[in-house]
Amino acid sequence: METLLNLIDGELRPAVSGAWLDVYAPATGKAFGRIPDSDERDVDLAVKAAQQAFPAWNALGREGRSKVMLRLAELIEADMDGFVEDESRDNGKPLSLARRVDIPRAVANLRFFATAIIHFPSEAHLMDDVAVNYTDRQPFGVAGCISPWNLPLYLFTWKIAPALASGNCVVAKPSEVTPLTAYRMSALCQAAGMPPGVLNIVHGLGPKVGAAITSHPGVPAISFTGGTRTGAEIARVAAPMFKKLSLELGGKNPVLVFADCDFEEMLRTTVRSSFTNQGQICLCGSRILVERSIFERFRTAFVDRVKALRVGDPRSPESDLGAVVSEAHMQKVLEHIRIAREEGAQVLCGGNRIMMEGPLKDGWFIAPTVIEGLGPQCRTNQEEIFGPVVTIQPFETETEAIALANATPYGLASVIWTRDVQRSHRVARALQAGIVWVNCWMVRDLRTPFGGVKQSGVGREGGMDALRFFTEAKNVCIKL
Ligand code: NDP
Repeated sequence: METLLNLIDGELRPAVSGAWLDVYAPATGKAFGRIPDSDERDVDLAVKAAQQAFPAWNALGREGRSKVMLRLAELIEADMDGFVEDESRDNGKPLSLARRVDIPRAVANLRFFATAIIHFPSEAHLMDDVAVNYTDRQPFGVAGCISPWNLPLYLFTWKIAPALASGNCVVAKPSEVTPLTAYRMSALCQAAGMPPGVLNIVHGLGPKVGAAITSHPGVPAISFTGGTRTGAEIARVAAPMFKKLSLELGGKNPVLVFADCDFEEMLRTTVRSSFTNQGQICLCGSRILVERSIFERFRTAFVDRVKALRVGDPRSPESDLGAVVSEAHMQKVLEHIRIAREEGAQVLCGGNRIMMEGPLKDGWFIAPTVIEGLGPQCRTNQEEIFGPVVTIQPFETETEAIALANATPYGLASVIWTRDVQRSHRVARALQAGIVWVNCWMVRDLRTPFGGVKQSGVGREGGMDALRFFTEAKNVCIKL
């Protein structure tokens, strides 16, 4: 069994309680490691270490902090194979995906914010001959960062990088289901020149460690990515304490396919937007809305492509999909498929667990699943499934497509497929979503605002929005 440790005040240590939690490999269903089962005592030590480290880290200035972060990015890049291996092992995602997306993006996050902070402007407002105002943006001290299991290091760095670049120290909790890469990174902090206490990583359960970070009076801001229900719980605790909150939550993203689209390009990308990372990306399209005139053609072609996807050993370059992240999550996804059947769905392909042979016989694999025949208000089209499951629904008009797209409590991402430029602008404006992709998916410019509306979240991350979140603006008004 591998033993992972917390990073607190520059030291790798077990939980104060001395208790441990097992870490599982989704592809085999077997435990292979353990993490500290930390609690509020570990969080308190981490917060104290962060508070102590804050003045010197802030005083290092933008360029000094930037150098440390760039060195950390370099060290991760130099250990690419190790990180890729770890990201696949506790998450179940194909190695190829971790190599192509997760780890390069984690490196990019660090580089992006390490350099963005150098260019982070402050505003000035001149009142004719009366006064001049300028905005002084200062870090607030200790940021709490809580991240999920689906893109472990990618989302972990997406939070800690802007927090650190802004001059804050961090107490972070990765998901207990996927702790490996955050731990691997913690072992590089010293070599990167990160002073003790600047980044603290506390492993353990959400209701213990996450809740302790949320309620700690020494943590004035929480950046959280995860499920909507957990986001509501965090807001319930943090709002009366007047903490700054950034909440990136769930989604039920629509993909709108108009008859005039580039069919082949749409098909290829829609297979990806449905099933990449076993459908466990908050940006995956899970409700595919197709103009009636091409519905039959789409259904046949799409189901053929989905049936051809290979589910298998995440280590194999042949595998398009690996295992889903945990046994509990697999059961949740299978339960949603059962509910869909109960609601009268036709399952066009998939719909079942896949039992592998040999060492993977206990792994948590689900066949990519396409569902038809359900209306917009049923649970299957309303609730986030977060697995390799999509529904398809026909529409007649643009107005109907927009109404269907907006008919959930969520509003994270959406995709429009059309060659009509006017329509793409019109529909993009009408969609209730924080992100709209037209004729593409997951094309990400890190400078753009990222986040959702309705129950998909509060606030925006990315680019200057993240740096603004991790600083407090002070207006200084000087009489002329
Ligand atoms: P969860 O909400 O279950 O968990 C997210 C993180 O919060 C984990 O680290 C978890 O710890 C922790 N946590 C759990 N309970 C509490 C609590 N009471 N207080 C503080 N922290 C807590 O989400 P998942 O990990 O299951 O991730 C999947 C979800 O994330 C999906 O809904 C998905 O849509 C969403 N997501 C949203 C994104 C976005 O940008 N909008 C991007 C990616 C995912 P533990 O693991 O121990 O439970």
